[in-house]
Amino acid sequence: MQTVRAKKYLGQHFLKDLNVARKIAETLTEGPVLEIGPGMGVLTQFLLQNPNIDLTAIEIDRESVAYLHEYYPELKLIEGDFLKLDLNKVFPTGSFSVIGNYPYNISSQIFFKVLEYRERIPVCSGMIQKEVAERLASKPGKKEYGILSVLLQAYYNIEYLFTVDEYVFAPPPKVKSAVIRCTRNERQSLGCDEELFKQVVKTAFNQRRKQMRNSLRVESLKLKVERSWIEDSEKLKEFYSDPIFNKRPEQLSVEEFIELTLKIEKLCQK
Ligand code: SAH
Repeated sequence: MQTVRAKKYLGQHFLKDLNVARKIAETLTEGPVLEIGPGMGVLTQFLLQNPNIDLTAIEIDRESVAYLHEYYPELKLIEGDFLKLDLNKVFPTGSFSVIGNYPYNISSQIFFKVLEYRERIPVCSGMIQKEVAERLASKPGKKEYGILSVLLQAYYNIEYLFTVDEYVFAPPPKVKSAVIRCTRNERQSLGCDEELFKQVVKTAFNQRRKQMRNSLRVESLKLKVERSWIEDSEKLKEFYSDPIFNKRPEQLSVEEFIELTLKIEKLCQK
């Protein structure tokens, strides 16, 4: 077999630069590791060389799977879609890290899935579109700061490690790339209603230019507030007079989003 023909619909851009590949592989040092989308194995070869790493890979593309079987017969390889993979079956107990030169078309969904399994994933690192990496790592107050920054930073510390130019790929992607590492932080739980937290973050950022007094109305959050409250405009007015509602979502840290969620939670209990 020669090489795998790059398929656009699978987000296939094969990394050619072995130095970059080695640097990505070195973002993880040990333990059970899942590589997403190994392609022709450019990262895989370095991960397999590390005796402290126990590697499993998942690849959706049949042609890449055939290639990997031929050149890396020792690799534990699953043919399938990472987004549909039951990680509890692959790793019945304990923790595992996640790595990849990810398919950029599904990178956000990959991070949402990592968040679902956060109690078992201490580190998730790899290469994504530069613009997405900047969003994930962004601090409050910047235009890149958004939904995934808040949700991911609630549970992970994000390091933007380095930028990678498009010409080290075949075919070159239209965008620049970046390597990041997400390491689980100390936070065990948010201390507020998780679902409401997500809803508050999403609703606020959907109208990111507005003060949250206007975007986070009882109706837009679909809150179950007593009828008498909604009708009592004075009470609601008092609630929304809290200075936190003067702000726009990009000004709020994770902690302030938690504080805000707690306030809204109390409103629902009244
Ligand atoms: N890691 C390789 C390939 C990167 S391209 C390299 O650095 O060269 C992204 C890879 O992810 C491709 O091999 C593609 O087939 C695979 N892929 C795309 N969608 C996937 C999915 N849902 N689950 C698993 N692998 C996927």
